Amino acid sequence: MVDEDREVVILGSGPAGLTAAIYAARANLRPLVIEGQPSSNSDQPGGQLMLTTDVENYPGFVDGIMGPDLMGRFRAQAERFGAEYLTSKATRVDLSSRPFRIWAPDPSTGEDREILTRSVIVSTGARSLMLGLESEKRLLGYGVSTCATCDGFFFRGQPIAVVGGGDSAIEEAIFLTKFADSVALIHRRKDLRASKFMQDRAFRNPKIRFIWDTVVTDILGDNRVEGIALRNVVSDERTVMPVSGLFVAIGHEPNTDLFAGQLDMDENGYLITHDGSRTNIDGVFACGDVQDHIYRQAITAAGSGCMAAIDTERWLETQGDAPADLIPTPTEW
Ligand code: NAP
Repeated sequence: MVDEDREVVILGSGPAGLTAAIYAARANLRPLVIEGQPSSNSDQPGGQLMLTTDVENYPGFVDGIMGPDLMGRFRAQAERFGAEYLTSKATRVDLSSRPFRIWAPDPSTGEDREILTRSVIVSTGARSLMLGLESEKRLLGYGVSTCATCDGFFFRGQPIAVVGGGDSAIEEAIFLTKFADSVALIHRRKDLRASKFMQDRAFRNPKIRFIWDTVVTDILGDNRVEGIALRNVVSDERTVMPVSGLFVAIGHEPNTDLFAGQLDMDENGYLITHDGSRTNIDGVFACGDVQDHIYRQAITAAGSGCMAAIDTERWLETQGDAPADLIPTPTEW
């Protein structure tokens, strides 16, 4: 089944994709947002904020707002201006010629829909790697966090642990020492993977306590984190550490498999953008965490979504009104 031609299709419905949708809809581009599907962690699509409880650093919400409520507002705002949603996950994209082609199963029939579009905004985000414990899933947002910048403030004066041994874990641990008297950094080996510079900073910080050769085997607590069960992988000694916050910082993975071989990526799989939100393919733009491994904040993702929509609108204007299949490809110019 071939959908009608679209001016723009937005892939992903986190803060980046939905902000792009608000701007694109208000520019009369009637965007189609392929918003993803409910996951095992969340019964609605909407990106990482669907897995967050209180968000206190999104400007405009003096008393904070729950992550899913914030995303619900973004979604409704884009819909008000004409954005349309397909609750499905794109399974294949062909960006080799224009119009671009995107395939996604229709949620009611399961049959693949083929969507043609003159431009694409990629905002498929990134996911935090997790330990894979059942208790971790249950307590995510209730003491388990993947973002110290977002959640550190909630743990003032409380015992905190960070898992991981890379730059992210060290950065999180150092940041968290602003709030806690002691931060335990739990690493499964004796050597950190983090850069020498970051290691030195961490070793010099008297508030960071290193727990080597140790893995987290369980997170304790019914409704909130109360402690973590640890196992020393060398001695097999098992202990329980009382903590109210556990920050999992074992890496991130951008959701870019769909674009392999088509869009330029760095060595970690993040999309490479230039001149704002442009990718290596004319007419394909990227925003949010799928192309940002540095800031990873809702507000920066939203800002880059706005940029992508404006870049797309301006790019479409330069293409004139020619039917999409008559628009020359870059090699024909
Ligand atoms: P990373 O470098 O891949 O480190 C992941 C860490 O988590 C490793 O120490 C790894 O242990 C540990 N780990 C992985 N899976 C685990 C598991 N299941 N259980 C326990 N521990 C586990 O990831 P990252 O720290 O997020 O950094 C990603 C990239 O971003 C890197 O290139 C990094 O340099 C960069 N970065 C830079 C900065 C900065 O410069 N300020 C800040 C953040 C990130 P092993 O060491 O045993 O494998």
